[in-house]
Amino acid sequence: RARSTLSIAIRTYGEGLRLVLSQDVTQRERADAMRRDFVANVSHEIRSPLTVVAGFIETMGSLPLTEVERKRVLMLMGQQTQRMQTLVADLLTLAQLEGSPRPPSDRWVPLSKLLAQSQADATALSAGRHVLTFPSDCPVQVAGNEPELLSALTNIVNNAVRYTPEGGRITVTWRSRDDGSGEVAVTDTGIGVEREHIPRLTERFYRVDGSRSRDTGGTGLGLSIVKHVIQRHGGELEVTSEIGKGSRFALLLPAARVRVPAPRTQAGER
Ligand code: ADP
Repeated sequence: RARSTLSIAIRTYGEGLRLVLSQDVTQRERADAMRRDFVANVSHEIRSPLTVVAGFIETMGSLPLTEVERKRVLMLMGQQTQRMQTLVADLLTLAQLEGSPRPPSDRWVPLSKLLAQSQADATALSAGRHVLTFPSDCPVQVAGNEPELLSALTNIVNNAVRYTPEGGRITVTWRSRDDGSGEVAVTDTGIGVEREHIPRLTERFYRVDGSRSRDTGGTGLGLSIVKHVIQRHGGELEVTSEIGKGSRFALLLPAARVRVPAPRTQAGER
């Protein structure tokens, strides 16, 4: 596709209108291709668990199963159904993010609240298999939409847990920069990502290792949600990683959306 764009551009060079039109067509073609890819991906992601569930239903209907077998089949069917539910929830989140107005810049959310909720989530997910460290006292407030900010933070912290083998460390830090902007960073000692994959991680359904992602409950949409959320808040997602050593995913927040309220003085204090 890139080659045909170039040849059109050269042939129509000097004819501004035709040049613009040809670019429009190329953009539309690209958007159409992306939509087709997206629909194909969603269909594939739903078809796999659905096929498993359909197979189990047939088995249950045609074979006499012991009580133990019946329980096991039901458990496996439950897992696949859960997978579809998570996928649909993530798809709805993405659709809502695309269609809703930018988050408010005057609604202040305590970062400590977001950190505490994400810590509870990650602790349950890790189930004691990792060492998790969160900032102990964080007086910062962030302006925006609380559920969105929480989902961005939870996604990167939970990914750190999911892509870090047992015994690894996950460390969450807060830092305010000289220009007033802020940074929440999640560092792990996990499997890491090769350099060439990093720019594509926020694409929908892009996974480095599909089976590991699915086995740990991933939909391939998490980082795409994170990128949307952080961009809507005027910030950026920064990723650095080294294969086999670990990764660092940082949410960068602009100065206008970060503040540290003055500590309340006790009565009698000056
Ligand atoms: P998934 O549901 O597959 O985890 P995400 O969009 O959250 O989807 O992440 C996309 C891909 O990025 C993952 O499949 C994984 O390959 C990679 N990834 C994300 N976080 C990490 C991490 N902390 N360490 C290593 N790889 C990661």
